[in-house]
Amino acid sequence: MQSVGIHHITAIVGDPQENVHFYSEILGLRLVKKTVNFDDPGTYHLYFGDEAGHPGTIITFFPWINAYKGRIGDGQVGVTAYAVPEGALSFWKNRLTQNDIHFDTVVRFEEESILFNDPHGLILEIVERKEGKKSEWEMDDISTDVAIKGFAGATLFSGAPNKTMNLLEEHMGLEKVGEEGEYIRYRSIADIGNVIDIKLTTTGRGSMGVGTVHHIAWRTKDDNEQLEWQKYLPTAGYQVTPVQDRNYFNAVYFREFGGILFEIATDPPGFAIDEPKEQLGEHLMLPARYEGYRQQLEATLPPIHIEKNRRNEK
Ligand code: ZN
Repeated sequence: MQSVGIHHITAIVGDPQENVHFYSEILGLRLVKKTVNFDDPGTYHLYFGDEAGHPGTIITFFPWINAYKGRIGDGQVGVTAYAVPEGALSFWKNRLTQNDIHFDTVVRFEEESILFNDPHGLILEIVERKEGKKSEWEMDDISTDVAIKGFAGATLFSGAPNKTMNLLEEHMGLEKVGEEGEYIRYRSIADIGNVIDIKLTTTGRGSMGVGTVHHIAWRTKDDNEQLEWQKYLPTAGYQVTPVQDRNYFNAVYFREFGGILFEIATDPPGFAIDEPKEQLGEHLMLPARYEGYRQQLEATLPPIHIEKNRRNEK
């Protein structure tokens, strides 16, 4: 079996308005879906990505206003990395500075990148990458030449790095491409969401809560291939869930031996299944089973507002 790369990353955050402001207005991603948590419909599930929310560009959030803060550590995705076009890193340094967001500059595997926190404590990284198509989503002050293309990849904080490496290499079809200090680098065949670093040293045990990644999802091309994954993973010792219908993809979950929750997610059908491409993210979309509760849900969910969830009118 082989996954071409990351499908999406899902994290727990706090106030939804702070979340949409940061990801859409500071980072310039498109809010591609505003829906509810299917397991807890009184709370939002918000999806951000490129202009269409292509696999490999999607970050999703459960904003839990009164939840405990988590701790980033072993058993989690520690760092979520974004790819920008070559030459765009200085733009992002300036943009973060202008918005009073502190960043650290690091060099790893001969790439310079910047590391910073989102408003709720997630660790984000921006790095220049040649591969990956440019996002077509732009705002007045973020042109497509500098806009985030999607995920560069992620750094996994595993509770058992050797076992996580074995999973990526022997069972998921990633290739080991480098080793530097406390990091091992893997690469998948996609051109976005394709570089995974594993940290070999411990960060201390992580705990789930606000400001931590909940799970990382890997791409599979369709329902049939997903069923093959579901059959294959138990032969390697992993316990998998039944297929769950997430409306925009189907999902199968398993916890890898380093403690990180993995998901296998189908590329289709994508976000245009229930609203037109031009209007992605503008209206609250509900799965059929909650449509009858729309009025109550709309009254309960805190209002969120984005100044510019719309491409510039040329
Ligand atoms: Zn997921």
